[in-house]
Amino acid sequence: MAVKVDQGAADRIDLWSKLRFDASSGTVWLGEQRMLLLHARSLGAFRNQLIKSLGEERAGALLLRMGFDSGAQDALLARALVGDGALEDVFLLGPRLHSLEGVVTVEMVSSELDLDTRSFKGRFRWSSSWESETHIEEFGQGDHCTCWNQVGYASGYVTSFLGKPVYFHEDKCRSKGDPHCEIFADTEAPITESDPIAVALRPSNIAGEIQELSDELEQLRAYLRQDLEPGSLIGRSKAFMSAFNLLKQAAHTPITVLLEGETGVGKEMFARWVHDNSPRRDGPFVAINCGAIPADLVESELFGVESGAFTGALKSRPGRFERADGGTLFLDEIGDMPLSSQVKLLRALQTGEIERLGDSRARKLDVRIVAATNVDLQHAIAAKTFRSDLFYRLNPYPIRIPPLRERREDIGLFVEVFVDRLARRYGKSIRGVSDKALRALTAYSWPGNIRELENVLERGVLLTRPGCNIEIESLFVGQAEGEPSTMSVAQTGLVTAMPSSGDNAVQMADLSIARLEAQLISEAMRRAKGNVAEAARLVGWTRRQLDYWLKSAGPDLKS
Ligand SMILES: [Zn+2]
Repeated sequence: MAVKVDQGAADRIDLWSKLRFDASSGTVWLGEQRMLLLHARSLGAFRNQLIKSLGEERAGALLLRMGFDSGAQDALLARALVGDGALEDVFLLGPRLHSLEGVVTVEMVSSELDLDTRSFKGRFRWSSSWESETHIEEFGQGDHCTCWNQVGYASGYVTSFLGKPVYFHEDKCRSKGDPHCEIFADTEAPITESDPIAVALRPSNIAGEIQELSDELEQLRAYLRQDLEPGSLIGRSKAFMSAFNLLKQAAHTPITVLLEGETGVGKEMFARWVHDNSPRRDGPFVAINCGAIPADLVESELFGVESGAFTGALKSRPGRFERADGGTLFLDEIGDMPLSSQVKLLRALQTGEIERLGDSRARKLDVRIVAATNVDLQHAIAAKTFRSDLFYRLNPYPIRIPPLRERREDIGLFVEVFVDRLARRYGKSIRGVSDKALRALTAYSWPGNIRELENVLERGVLLTRPGCNIEIESLFVGQAEGEPSTMSVAQTGLVTAMPSSGDNAVQMADLSIARLEAQLISEAMRRAKGNVAEAARLVGWTRRQLDYWLKSAGPDLKS
């Protein structure tokens, strides 16, 4: 038969007297059970972290389960404490234990317990719920109940007590703005599959799921790294990104890519990116600058030679095509290729085969072509310097690489990367560029593009004292008021300032390091008024190094 349980019955047991602190062994006991005295705040921090890393649903389930276990433990404890006493007393110790442990203060609203049928129906009111307080403090008030651990405790306790599942539910909670929390349970109500406690207690492999999720995340990250990040390519401007997006889509495919852009825009870097992000990445990347090789050598460079009387070659050697087998061949400045070679290139592209010079044997090759041009090939066709059939073979996927002046937002990025790289190359610690210098660099039109920018920064790095910012005067030497211009080296090796113009800038871009060096040292000598020690300090060299250089390379500069 069902009995109304009387709260006062449990008062016969003095719980406090069962709580023992054993200082000598550093243990806390409640009856025969070892307890822990924890910092509510640190346990709260742990709970918050659990929710943030696993999400409310998973964290809630873990907390429920943890509460369920401690409730079941306390039911055993209560049984031991009560001994031969009434079972109703054991039942009522649950709320009191929960409160003694500092979790929550429990007030019975209603409770009907039938030990014969092992049935229970009841409702409890909670005040000073540790869990809701912690939750509100971290996450604020929401629209649902959050006393997962405590609900788990009540369920575990009563389930253990009755020896059959009794799952509590919280329908009022401080976390959703109620004045207090309330839980209820009714053994008459069927337990559904989706009951939060049933879900929490179901054996699940959270570790496995987390591992799967983390594998998936790593795959996605790798995908992002591989497919979306420019990697060695520098830029985030709109103009750069639209070229880069085209590049990205072509990389996986075998399609021939034609890169169009002015001198110095970094076409080879783009070609290399395509290779590095293609299925051929483990194969060779071979580049040939068709404009830099004498016309009569282009074919032997491209296709190789077989030794023999006809070619006059003493040794057989493979050409760039063969060396690129299984990889990518980058044909730079394709517009400068002689017409006679264009025919042979076209045939190689059509058949996938090449013949070495002086050899009639065809060699089958697997080469992906990336070509680049700084001239308008349509114009070259009109001027009859480029074959239209070769153009159509190379042009299925043209990508225009914007000049630097169309992507000024990227200049700051380039400056960062180049200054860092150059400073390391010269073993100098350079902080960066001054704001004024950066403004000038951003405003300049850069006819020589990225290559010109790199050269200008190289001079800046060399002319700047260690630990300092590169100032505008070190970039645009001899210029008044930061009007950017480029320099040329007069035959005497002395520096002359030239007004900015396209031709001079390109000339600047082509200056060799040696000439830059001469230019920078002459400038340093001029500023130091011929004092070698001072000039050495300006360029970051030792006096001995500069002495040596002046003797061997720059005798004209001393006077
Ligand atoms: Zn609550």
